[in-house]
Amino acid sequence: MQKGKIGVSSDNLFPIIKKFLYSDHDIFLREIISNAVDATQKLRTLAGRGEYSGDMSNAKVSVTIDKEAKTITISDNGIGMTAEEVEKYINQIAFSGAEEFLEKYKNDANAIIGHFGLGFYSSFMVSSQVDIISKSYREGATAIRWECDGSPEYMLEEGDRAEVGTDIVMHINADSEEFLEKSRIQDILNKYCKFLPIPVVFGKKTTWKDGKEVDTDEDNQVNDVAPAWTKKPVDLKEEDYSNFYRQLYPMAEEPLFNIHLNVDYPFNLTGILYFPKLKNTIEVQKNKIQLYSNQVFVTDSVEGIVPEFLTLLHGVIDSPDIPLNVSRSYLQSDSNVKKISSHVTKKVADRLSQLFAEKREDFEAKWDDLRLFIEYGMLTEEKFYDKAEKFFLFKNTDNKYFTLEEYETLIKPEQTDKDNNLVYLYTSNLEDQFSFVQAAKNKGYDVLVMNNVLATPLINKFEQKYTNKRFVRVDSDVVEHLIAKDDKTHELSWEEKNELSPIFKAVCPENKDFGFIVDFKDLGENGSPMVITRNEFMRRMKDMSQMQGGMSFYGDLPENMNLVVNTSHPLVKQIFGERDAVLGSELEKVKSELQAKESEKSELEKTKNGKKDEEIPSEIKEKSEEVEKAISALQDERKEKLTAFGKENKLAKQLVDLALLANGMLKGEDLDKFVKRSFEMIK
Ligand code: ADP
Repeated sequence: MQKGKIGVSSDNLFPIIKKFLYSDHDIFLREIISNAVDATQKLRTLAGRGEYSGDMSNAKVSVTIDKEAKTITISDNGIGMTAEEVEKYINQIAFSGAEEFLEKYKNDANAIIGHFGLGFYSSFMVSSQVDIISKSYREGATAIRWECDGSPEYMLEEGDRAEVGTDIVMHINADSEEFLEKSRIQDILNKYCKFLPIPVVFGKKTTWKDGKEVDTDEDNQVNDVAPAWTKKPVDLKEEDYSNFYRQLYPMAEEPLFNIHLNVDYPFNLTGILYFPKLKNTIEVQKNKIQLYSNQVFVTDSVEGIVPEFLTLLHGVIDSPDIPLNVSRSYLQSDSNVKKISSHVTKKVADRLSQLFAEKREDFEAKWDDLRLFIEYGMLTEEKFYDKAEKFFLFKNTDNKYFTLEEYETLIKPEQTDKDNNLVYLYTSNLEDQFSFVQAAKNKGYDVLVMNNVLATPLINKFEQKYTNKRFVRVDSDVVEHLIAKDDKTHELSWEEKNELSPIFKAVCPENKDFGFIVDFKDLGENGSPMVITRNEFMRRMKDMSQMQGGMSFYGDLPENMNLVVNTSHPLVKQIFGERDAVLGSELEKVKSELQAKESEKSELEKTKNGKKDEEIPSEIKEKSEEVEKAISALQDERKEKLTAFGKENKLAKQLVDLALLANGMLKGEDLDKFVKRSFEMIK
């Protein structure tokens, strides 16, 4: 028997392992099993080369729990270790500069274990003692037994083992007894070992007999040693891909399509990515891409390894070239990772291009489930945008799909404005904006449906990219003004507007969220009498600030709706007529008084002209003030009269309500009143 001290540069390996590695304890099993798998693969290779004559056909790794002895044993029939090898590989650990590194990565057991090659020692996270019983494949080798109780002292002696291979016996410590539960171990095996290349057996398969769960004779193999991604694409059928998807995510809906990744130069990468159906929200991803290194599961958080938008995909990436045991920030600057990331992005874009080119119909059918992913990619990865530009699809209100180029050709003749901008009209809600969509279509315009969460940022992106393109939502102005063709329409004067707006303002609903601005436009006799619009810019700013969350300048501004009154509509003209009949003479009187005061005011201004404040006689100043007051009193009087008239005017109220109704904004009590008023008016 030999005793010795493990060769570490500082004495504190074990305290460190126990103290710092308090997260991810369950990876000890992955580490020990990976070692066992490696050892088995090595021996298999040797056997293949004729350097070992033993039978490798039943090679496997077994996991056994002994609840009474409180041990977990991992057994393999791999190459085993001689005493010299144990001395070299287990007893000597390079361990310099440790403290600093450990302090930095104390929450990342992966990083620590990988950094120091501590795979085997991770067993001490959960064990009070670990034994190695091993017999090397080498001719004449004797079995060894190594034992260590978590202090730097170990014991090495002759062991008792007839067959080539290794047992690692972990004596589970009091804090870690959860790992003696079968279900806990089964879960960990499912997580890390599902696709290891050597069979991993955990007890026997069970069956239900007489109301009890009993073992069968069949090994409970936890892994599939040859998962689909390790095979050649030519050897796989569509069915194999969907079976593999179900193996990965038993509960998930069938994916749209897949990409088989297979690169061996300049880096090694295999994998299968699936496009899931994405709902109209960027949901928290349940089925994440899983990252493997030579079939050993490493993580399912691939952020930093692939661009963010690709994390919406499902599937598997396997690459021994991704440095797994480093921090995320280091990952992003790693040149291999950069290459891998841009390779995967390119592959995904190419696959989409190919599908678009070869099966456009199918691509269109899947578009609604795909668009969120594609839009997200376009918004976040310039390189992807450049490719996606060719297969991105617009959908119009007739459910027809167009590429950017096709759509431009379609709308160019009708939707170019006087400044040579191409105006893209869109609706975010076909039902709510129905009358606007209809009006635009009647005018010969085409309307796009842009109704998903990324629509607004995407529109902004398009406008940034193409300076001569504008996106305008159909309800942001009356149809005549959506696309400015010329400036010839007749506008009411300021004075005329003043004599009208209080009437309509009086019938606008009062709402704490937004106010109404009354405006007058000539929309023709056949246009709607009144239309409610929302300014495109303000609305989009609001949308954006809502997406980003929190308080922001635009998000906090109260919003204004525009009530556009069509001055040419017969019903509006009728209101003008009623006003003249009821208020005509009174308004005339106010008007002439106002005019008189206005001219008095301008006379006074003349005398003040060019004089400094102190040079103006106080008498003139007082007079000016008086006139100002009289003017505003007259204006108020006029406003009051018009407001009172408006309030009583059922027709005006009815027309505003109709405009609100067309926008889906008439609700509750107001809607009820509207209906009752309508009955009265029909009577
Ligand atoms: P790493 O696996 O990163 O080299 P480990 O600490 O996990 O670091 O293992 C150290 C070495 O011990 C391995 O490289 C291998 O040579 C040897 N070893 C560990 N487990 C086994 C095993 N089950 N069979 C044979 N050799 C093993």
